[in-house]
Amino acid sequence: MGEFDLIARIRARAGSRDDIVLGIGDDAALLAPPPGRQLVVTADTLNEGVHFPHGTSPADIGWKALAVNLSDLAAMGAEPAWCTLSLSLPQSGTAWIDGFLDGFLTLAGEHGIALVGGDTTRGPLSVSVTAMGFVDAGRALRRDGARIGDDVWVTGTLGDAAGALALLETDPAHALRARLDRPTPRVRAGLELGGLANACVDVSDGLLADLGHIASRSGVAAQVDVGALPMSDALRGALDDTTRTALQAGGGDDYELCFTAPADAHARIDAVSSQLGLRITRIGWITAGEGVHPVDADGQPWSPPRRGYDHFATS
Ligand code: ADP
Ligand code: MG
Repeated sequence: MGEFDLIARIRARAGSRDDIVLGIGDDAALLAPPPGRQLVVTADTLNEGVHFPHGTSPADIGWKALAVNLSDLAAMGAEPAWCTLSLSLPQSGTAWIDGFLDGFLTLAGEHGIALVGGDTTRGPLSVSVTAMGFVDAGRALRRDGARIGDDVWVTGTLGDAAGALALLETDPAHALRARLDRPTPRVRAGLELGGLANACVDVSDGLLADLGHIASRSGVAAQVDVGALPMSDALRGALDDTTRTALQAGGGDDYELCFTAPADAHARIDAVSSQLGLRITRIGWITAGEGVHPVDADGQPWSPPRRGYDHFATS
């Protein structure tokens, strides 16, 4: 299949929205952002063997390529609107592209984001997505808004994707694998947190690392109770205690939201949690100083055990 057949196949299935003046098919898309709102733009690339394991199904690659970008929009508190898709493909079979679009467009449909353009080339398998969305002016969730006295919260559970990676060789079809291949971007949570959170980041590189971005951009320190990090039953059943904690604190690819909020927002955060049916857990607090300071249940400084940490670092 040639490049133009492939683009025609994509075009036939791309969603539509009223604010798309001109979508796929011209030299560029023509879009009409709503007056008075700010445009939020993010891009992420997935390379085979780096961001997803060799042998990942085309549908899972499609899902994840969009999910990681929706997660960035979620972390900004933005409402998804449009995306573009740049594909580098070793060979362009119809089965591959149809499978890819199944995953990509299922997730796109769930969030009302439409595919408006992209680029298609031949080369090593690589998928690059740009996602765009809107926020009300001044309402975006940023990394630099954390204040001393804020609580630190996280959505969902941590360490599942890293757990799946740790089990990749011994048990590639483990139940945790779904969290690695099909992360759930917390778009609705991000929207609800708009008036509540002071700072927010999505957990893509590992909780401690990503919370570190909030701390440094905000000029504060973050204290984290590692014993409070939320854990799925699947992770609890899969790995030993020490490894689990290391993966929860340091493992990447969770795509949960980590945010800070004033102490008086507690009840409203609980209300968002029940409304969305999504666990939201207080895991720490913001103090004066710098850096991220994990402590164990006894209040003693916690550092990652070498073995678990090394395992993650090389995966
Ligand atoms: P040009 O050469 O002018 O950049 P292309 O032939 O690359 O145009 O693309 C033609 C149209 O198809 C454009 O609207 C472009 O955005 C769209 N397009 C190309 N590849 C993709 C893709 N992978 N996903 C979505 N749209 C695509
Ligand atoms: Mg052109």
